[in-house]
Amino acid sequence: MPRGGSAGDDAAMRHTRYGWWLEEVGPVEPTAPLEGDTSADVVVVGGGYLGLWTAWQLRRLEPALDVIVLDAGLAGHGPSGRNGGFVSTLWDDLQILRDRVGDAQALAVARASERGVTGIGAWCEEQGVDAWFRAAPTLVVATSEAQLETARDGVAACAALGAPDEIRPLEADELAERCDAGFLGGVLLRTSATVQPARLSLGLRAKAIAAGIRLHERTPVRRLGRDGTATTPRGRVRAGHAVLAVNSATAAFAGYRLAHAVASSHIVLTEPVPDVLEELGWTGGEPIADGRTLLHYFRTTRDGRIAFGWGGGRMGFGGRRLGRLDVDPRAARKARADLLRLFPQLAGRRITHAWGGPIDVSPTHLPIFGSRGRVHHGFGFTGNGVGPSYLGGEILARLALDRRDELTRLALVDPERKLMPPEPLRWAGGTAIRAALVRADAADDAGSRPGPVTRLVSGLPRRLGLRLPR
Ligand SMILES: Cc1cc2nc3c(=O)[nH]c(=O)nc-3n(C[C@H](O)[C@H](O)[C@H](O)COP(=O)(O)OP(=O)(O)OC[C@H]3O[C@@H](n4cnc5c(N)ncnc54)[C@H](O)[C@@H]3O)c2cc1C
Repeated sequence: MPRGGSAGDDAAMRHTRYGWWLEEVGPVEPTAPLEGDTSADVVVVGGGYLGLWTAWQLRRLEPALDVIVLDAGLAGHGPSGRNGGFVSTLWDDLQILRDRVGDAQALAVARASERGVTGIGAWCEEQGVDAWFRAAPTLVVATSEAQLETARDGVAACAALGAPDEIRPLEADELAERCDAGFLGGVLLRTSATVQPARLSLGLRAKAIAAGIRLHERTPVRRLGRDGTATTPRGRVRAGHAVLAVNSATAAFAGYRLAHAVASSHIVLTEPVPDVLEELGWTGGEPIADGRTLLHYFRTTRDGRIAFGWGGGRMGFGGRRLGRLDVDPRAARKARADLLRLFPQLAGRRITHAWGGPIDVSPTHLPIFGSRGRVHHGFGFTGNGVGPSYLGGEILARLALDRRDELTRLALVDPERKLMPPEPLRWAGGTAIRAALVRADAADDAGSRPGPVTRLVSGLPRRLGLRLPR
């Protein structure tokens, strides 16, 4: 097992492939791989939140439907089981949406994205799944002067569209009442929550199996035909419709090679520190993110820990070899150092776990849903997939059943196509830009101005019309 850092105080940090959340739940009994040929009404490829919500919604809309879910590994053990557990809307993408699709559609998408927060809470309640769902507003905070402006776009966009309560400014003293960590200012996003992500993904997995959805794990789909046929190493599913819900592996499928890029994100976790949370006054469960380009995101857990993430890990190549992004000791060490810098109260406390995973970076910064023949797809969550994958499941189920309504008419469905550059350009360019962003954020931390090359390279994505992951 790789160890983080050379310093002795790093030795307690255990790098795990699946992360603490899945350990907290405990192991599951894998379902049988697919052997031989079979048929179904709908085959769903990928058993993360998106695939499982789609399967769930399909059965909700048509209870007699025969639905098969195929997962290359164990359902719910990908990023869905080990993310930061921020359940967010798309309100903070309102300005991007306005620029792309106009005010009316932007507002419709932002409002619809609230379904993720309310729908997950209601589902946990109805189904008796204790996913530690806790409604609390998200704070986007400035840790440097330069960040004070970043979240203000969202405030202005919401005010302009008559929704000023969705994102509102926070003064430093109000912030200090919620978390007294010396933040300079920030904004409050009204509608959000946190979950224990693995309790949600495995709760969903268990409920799907109990509902009669056929789940085959350790069953990688090698080919997905336009006619809805999914081919696996030892079998095949012929289905009326297929749903591709494989997150960062989407680019490994024919027809989707340029659909997205792959970055990575990493989390470190403290031992329980309830006294520190008490001292900070951070007892309201608010998820917090800062205003850096490669942002930090942090939250508390039910047992009084702090989970602290950093969206600045290395880039992936195409949709392949994604496992390399799960454990990255350098990114974890950086996250750990940043955590201690932001919360000096944690000096001497143990940072017990570190883990990471791939992020499917959308060329538009927005998730993309749509259909190509009888194959329906969803990808591009760009680090905000917990809430939006619920809405995505509702949309994909409707597309697979050919039911059109206000959800399938949202601007997230079949948007104007925007492509990423081909490999190896995508990886090389992404890696250079990422390094420049790390330098720009470091200069920002130090209160200095980044050099001209860093400014030029880090500004490239925006000039090319591409948006960055959170
Ligand atoms: C460290 C980290 C922190 C994050 N924090 C947050 C957060 O706080 N809030 C938030 O909203 N989002 C966060 N995200 C993003 C979020 O986790 C994802 O957007 C979300 O889980 C996507 O769900 P999914 O179902 O699309 O993907 P996944 O959970 O990746 O599921 C895809 C499934 O497809 C399977 N698969 C892949 N290839 C194949 C194949 N060929 N055949 C069959 N199956 C296949 C995989 O095994 C996997 O189970 C984070 C991500 C990471 C990595």
